[in-house]
Formats: sequence, C-alpha cells, structure tokens
Amino acid sequence: MMNEGMVNVSYIIATILFILALGGLSNQETARRGNWYGIVGMTIALLATVFSEDVYANYDKLIVALLIGGTVGVILARRVQMTQMPELVAILHSLVGLAAVAVGYANFMGHGSGFSGIELTIHDIETYVGILIGAVTFSGSVIAFGKLSGRISGKPLTLPARHWLNLGLLIGAIWFGREFVLQSAAGSGMEPLIIMTVIALLFGMHMVLAIGGADMPVVVSMLNSYSGWAASATGFMLGNDLLIVTGALVGSSGAILSYIMCRAMNRKFLAVIAGGFGTGGGVAASGGEDQGEVVPISAEETAALLADAKEVMIIPGYGMAVAQAQHTVFEITKALRAKKVNVRFGIHPVAGRMPGHMNVLLAEAKVPYDIVFEMDEINEDFPDVDVSVVIGANDIVNPSALTDPNSPIAGMPVLECWKGHTSIVLKRSMATGYAGVQNPLFFLDNTRMLFGDAKETLDEVLKAL
Ligand code: NDP
Repeated sequence: MMNEGMVNVSYIIATILFILALGGLSNQETARRGNWYGIVGMTIALLATVFSEDVYANYDKLIVALLIGGTVGVILARRVQMTQMPELVAILHSLVGLAAVAVGYANFMGHGSGFSGIELTIHDIETYVGILIGAVTFSGSVIAFGKLSGRISGKPLTLPARHWLNLGLLIGAIWFGREFVLQSAAGSGMEPLIIMTVIALLFGMHMVLAIGGADMPVVVSMLNSYSGWAASATGFMLGNDLLIVTGALVGSSGAILSYIMCRAMNRKFLAVIAGGFGTGGGVAASGGEDQGEVVPISAEETAALLADAKEVMIIPGYGMAVAQAQHTVFEITKALRAKKVNVRFGIHPVAGRMPGHMNVLLAEAKVPYDIVFEMDEINEDFPDVDVSVVIGANDIVNPSALTDPNSPIAGMPVLECWKGHTSIVLKRSMATGYAGVQNPLFFLDNTRMLFGDAKETLDEVLKAL
C-alpha cells in the first residue's frame, strides 16, 4: 500500500506528464511523444489510485468493475470503424457525464459521516453542481451520438420560445439547488436532487437538438469540454486533486478547441449554443434551384490531367474517410511526386466529422507533414493550382458559403478551389454533404465530376498513372 505522501507525489508527476502530453499533441511532429507522456501519466495515476488507502482491500470490487468495463471497451474498440470515430468520442463523453452523476448520488447517499455546518453546505453544492454538469454532459452527448451516427436528424429543433424554456430550466435548477442545500442540512434532500437531474437531462438534450447540422463541430468540442468539467466536479466530490486538475485541463482545452472551431466556421460561440441556425428559407433556397449540367470525367482522363499538372492540391473530406481512400491517395501522391508534380494537401478545419479527422487519416497513411497545409496557409495559392482533387468533400468547398447569405453555412470560410485551373470532384452521386445544401462548385465550367466510391476510382487513377 502507498501512504498519502507517495500518492500525492505520484499525482503531481502524473499532472506534469498530462501537461507535457497536451503540449506535445499541439503539433503533429511531437504528437506521438505527447501520447506517450499521456499514457505514462495515466498509468502512474491508475497505479497510485489502486494502491492508495481508499482502494486498498477493496480489490474484489475493483477487479470485477475493471473486468466488465475493460471487456466492453476492448470489444467496442475492436469493432469500431475509423468512420465511426466521432460517434465513439461522443458516446465516451456521455460516460464521463454518467460517472459524475453516479458519483454524485453515491456521495450524497453516503454522506452523513463527518460534515456539518458550512462544510456540509460546500460539500452539498459540489455534489449538486457535479450532478448538474454530469447530467447535461450525459444527455447532450447521447443526442450528439445520435446526430453523428445519423440516427437523429441533423436539422435543428426549434421549439417556440425555446430561449425562455432554457431560461426557465436554468432558474429551476438554481431554485432546486437552494432547496437541496436547505433540506440536506435537515437530513433529507433527495427529492430536489432528482428533480434537478431530470431538468439537467432535458436541458442537455434540448441544447444539442437545437443546434443545426453545420454547427456540429462546435457541439463535439463543447461536449469534450463539458466532460472535462464533469470529471473535475467528480474530483471535488471525491476530494481527489488529480481528477480536479485533469478535468480542468480537458475542460479548458475543449473550450479552446470550441473557440477555434467557431472561428473556423466564422460563427459566434453564443450564437451556436443558442442554436436554431440553418433552418427557414435557407435550405430550400440554395438546394432547390436548377443549377445546370455537370461534366463527368473518367479515371484515365483524371490521371492524364494530373500527370500533366505542375501544381496539384488535394482536398480531402468526409468521403475519403468513408471510402478509406487515404492509402491510395498517398500512393498517387508518391507517383505524381516522382513525375516532379508538386502535390500539396489543403485541410479545412471542419473537414470530416471530428476536429483533426483528416490529419489523423493522412498520418495513418504516412503522408509527410510538410506537404499537409491548413486552409489559411494555402487558400491564397489556388490561382496557381493546375488541378485540385476534391476527395469526398462537399461543404468545405462550397462557394455559396461566401455568396449566399441564406445558406446554412453562410460566412464559413471554404477552400476556394474554383479559382484554380481545374477542379476534379470525387463522389458517388449528386447527394449533398452534412449541411444538406447543394454545391454550385459542381456545375462550374472548370469542374469535372469523377463519380464512384473514392477508393475504387482512385485505384483506377493510380493504375492509369
Ligand atoms: P460533407 O459531409 O460536406 O461531404 C462529404 C461528401 O462525401 C458527400 O457529399 C458524399 O457525397 C461524399 N462521399 C461519401 N462517401 C463517399 C465515398 N465512399 N466515396 C466518395 N465520396 C463519398 O464533408 P466535408 O468534409 O466537406 O464537410 C464536413 C461537414 O461535416 C461540414 O458541414 C461540417 O460542419 C460537418 N461536421 C464536421 C465535424 C468536425 O468536427 N469536423 C463534426 C460534425 C459535422 P456522395 O454521397 O454523393 O458520395
């Protein structure tokens, strides 16, 4: 068994490792090292907790819990496809929320020992706030999971007077908080606690349901942040400093990520949270009208165009993840580079279905980092690009985001590939992307459509090359 001093020292070392991990993850070249810091930090934290006085001699329960949780985790992790990663992340956030709720209730039912007076009040507020954040995180993440996996429609739910409804729920939560603290001092309090939990669950659902499809990137990063605060609240309830610090690290990095995603989409954070964006005339106005004819192209012609080009820009999107085409993309890149073609990748911050989605796929395929660029770095360069290859991307190359103020993605900066000489768009059909809007890019004179599954068509292009 470890004494308290040893546990604290271990926790401090783990905290430092977690901070180093975050620092490492901020850059692709150091991300692998950052991950190792995180793994070592978490191992130290787990061992210190397992051998601490609190857990010592309760190993039978711990082992049963670890076996159940571990088995579920291993099965899920092996089954999940790369394309289901965003949903997996969302549902894992929900578990953090659920854990905070469970710890809160256990804590409340098990108290009676020790606390009184102001200490009891503080402890009660910790419990109340912890359950509140946990319940919002839980129900919000479950709805986000449903939306990302297509089980729930991506359209925003706009109830009449929904801002008043939210305000009412907030006031209710504060009122029952007061009731809870008063009643708890008198030895009861379960009732207001349960009512608040229901309110918080409803609030979490309503908040995410109200947020429209194109704003989902912010929801994902926001729930990431909430799950951190829920963990932090759990730390307060359990008096565990490491959990408080780690939760705060996750909470604040998620908040920064939400800010970055908002900036990437040119949206105000509060406007996203208030929801309701992307409804009304917008969708019909940009989706319904006749946009003319598209010009198809074959894989052989694509290969010929690419081989003749000097500057090629590859723009991957969600469809590349679906088709699992990243390895073929890299093979084509190598073949072109051997022919002295300058190939670069342009990555939109909200491409795919989770922050960093494309970077993960390209890293998996071992595409060198120095040819992968963020939108801001290369958006000016398109006039000099001979061929842009748009692989399963749609919303992130939609010119109407810049021209149609009624579009659900109005104001979002996009990769302006149409300014180059030719754009080749790879997709299976004329279907819309996540935001559900038609894309005028497909109908432009200098755009060619290469229809089919991106992996299959790119295999043909590679063969022709
Ligand atoms: P989109 O969803 O706009 O478009 C993807 C396109 O890929 C579709 O039009 C689809 O067309 C095509 N596609 C799908 N499967 C294949 C396949 N096997 N082969 C070839 N093409 C395929 O993706 P983008 O990456 O352009 O934009 C991301 C969108 O997702 C944005 O609206 C963003 O707001 C949203 N979002 C982003 C999140 C994030 O964190 N990054 C989180 C949640 C939402 P077709 O069916 O015709 O093949």
